[in-house]
Amino acid sequence: MQNDLIAQMRNYAEEYNVPIMVDEGINFVRNYIARNDVKSILEIGTAIGYSAILMAMVRPDIQITTIERDEKRYLEAIKNIKKANMQDRIHLIYKDALEVELEEQYDLLFIDAAKAQNIKFFERFEKNLRPFGTVITDNMSFHGLVNQDEEQIESRNVRQLVRKVKDYKAFLEQNQAFRTEFLEIGDGIAVSIKK
Ligand code: SAH
Ligand code: MG
Repeated sequence: MQNDLIAQMRNYAEEYNVPIMVDEGINFVRNYIARNDVKSILEIGTAIGYSAILMAMVRPDIQITTIERDEKRYLEAIKNIKKANMQDRIHLIYKDALEVELEEQYDLLFIDAAKAQNIKFFERFEKNLRPFGTVITDNMSFHGLVNQDEEQIESRNVRQLVRKVKDYKAFLEQNQAFRTEFLEIGDGIAVSIKK
């Protein structure tokens, strides 16, 4: 039943070009959640609820708050979360994350939204991370483009995004309040642990 839903979401993502996490990436995050006893998660970038549902499936006591600004995806996420019967565990916020104010503390902050805004997301929500909590950021390789010669990238827009991902990487490296590891898993994952 849940497996059918996962398959349906993957098909939908493929058909409508929704950039859901790749298998290797989401498997890593699920293992991280299991190994570190993560119980509360704040996700930036719900899309259609694929990663949120897979993270919530790790254990029944996991609670997730997830933020999405795109209406069509948000509505699709609501449907999927209902089908998964996880309405009481996955809390959707339909808003630009940069306008969301939260008071709660979370074990894990998962950043997977607009890549150019990663520093802003990090700075906005680090106060919502409990001591020794973790920030995981997806797409640090930006579809392999971060390791490519910038001159070779034809689109100016894409080149700028690649620069933003590099700026974010430097920001994490210099951040003394966190210890960050960059993993060549999936599309590149950064794991930043609050000291
Ligand atoms: N985590 C999802 C994929 C997210 S794709 C999964 O793996 O299943 C990134 C999503 O972030 C997109 O749907 C986009 O609309 C959303 N997004 C980008 N910038 C945002 C912002 N500032 N606030 C809220 N959502 C944002
Ligand atoms: Mg991603």
